[in-house]
Amino acid sequence: MKSDKGEKRRKNRMATVVTQAGREPFEHFGFVNPPIYRGSTVLFPTVADLEGLRQPYTYGTKGTPTTRALETAWTEIAGAEDTVLVPSGLAAIAIALLTATKAGAHLLVTDSAYAPTRFFCDGFLARFGVTTEYYDPEIGAGVSALIRPETTAILTESPGSQSMEIQDIPAIAAAAREKGVCVIVDNTWATPLFFPPHERGCDLAVDAGTKYLSGHSDLLMGLVSANAKWAKRLRHTFNLFAIGSGPDDASLALRGLRTMALRLREQERAALEIATWLEARPEIARVLHPALPGHPGHDLWKRDFSGSSGVFSIILKPVAKAAVESFVDGLALFGIGFSWGGYESLVLPFDCAPFRTATRWAPEGPALRFSIGLEDVADLKDDLEAAFARLGG
Ligand SMILES: *Cc1c(COP(=O)(O)O)cnc(C)c1O
Repeated sequence: MKSDKGEKRRKNRMATVVTQAGREPFEHFGFVNPPIYRGSTVLFPTVADLEGLRQPYTYGTKGTPTTRALETAWTEIAGAEDTVLVPSGLAAIAIALLTATKAGAHLLVTDSAYAPTRFFCDGFLARFGVTTEYYDPEIGAGVSALIRPETTAILTESPGSQSMEIQDIPAIAAAAREKGVCVIVDNTWATPLFFPPHERGCDLAVDAGTKYLSGHSDLLMGLVSANAKWAKRLRHTFNLFAIGSGPDDASLALRGLRTMALRLREQERAALEIATWLEARPEIARVLHPALPGHPGHDLWKRDFSGSSGVFSIILKPVAKAAVESFVDGLALFGIGFSWGGYESLVLPFDCAPFRTATRWAPEGPALRFSIGLEDVADLKDDLEAAFARLGG
């Protein structure tokens, strides 16, 4: 929910906003952080109060002071009208899509989307007569030609999962607005700290709080924020499912939030240093990082984003699969695993080719995605240096 205090606080810089947002210490005897309210039933003093629902909390599925604190904070940070919390990033994508579609509708989804987003569209929404068409992430204003009378939403993700294409979201949003189409962004990579989704024209913004908001790989959380036009419809859909996040998870996420700007700034610096160093290595064909001047989306990134996070990809020059496995398996500091955004560095071999339908993914060699954590950069470089020796030998 939006608050006047929040509006005033948002005038500060992000590092300040994340330390202040959603906090009401004097509603909790002055304690700095809200307590964990666990509850299903909420009591009403009288029948009249119950019939009028005359109190801020009415039932556990509708929220508690703990979940409300995080919703209010995120609404402030994203520059939104309202936010709902759900148990995972993928659930957030599902709720956003269900808010903006109906039987017989047509959806436009970026070909670079997080693969489970496609599985939800093709495996679930299709059963309800919703058609999904995938578009080239670099289409920009050209998306206009793909909008049909029955198109209800465009789902963008910038940069794209693993492949890192940057989209011209303001141009896509302008084309959509003209035709009354809802624009959704999966903003997990940049977070609202580096890409203000609603200011850039998006109606609904999804964030997998599992990643940078959590920051410690100990939490699953999804957030959907909405602008004034879509806030009521989002809250309505959310209430119909009663698929909220619990108060313990909200409390962990609030703890993560207070250091989020600091962690992102450090992970940005470390990732850029490593990406620049990798770009100069002879074993590398390309580094896919939008903050590097050679990236095809660099100018758009510079125009629309205020920073870059710790996730980027590399394409190795052609080399045997066994050599790549030896490169990855022998790394001491990079874990092999899904997800990202935690304090620990990760690496993941990937191949987008099996999912693509609108564009072709045909890199020069094997592809790896890195998530840079909070270790010392010199140690991470030493670890990678040793890996390159294995690649050649
Ligand atoms: C991880 C991720 C999600 C899903 O988040 P979960 O909490 O793991 O369900 C959605 N979008 C992107 C871009 C992601 O990286």
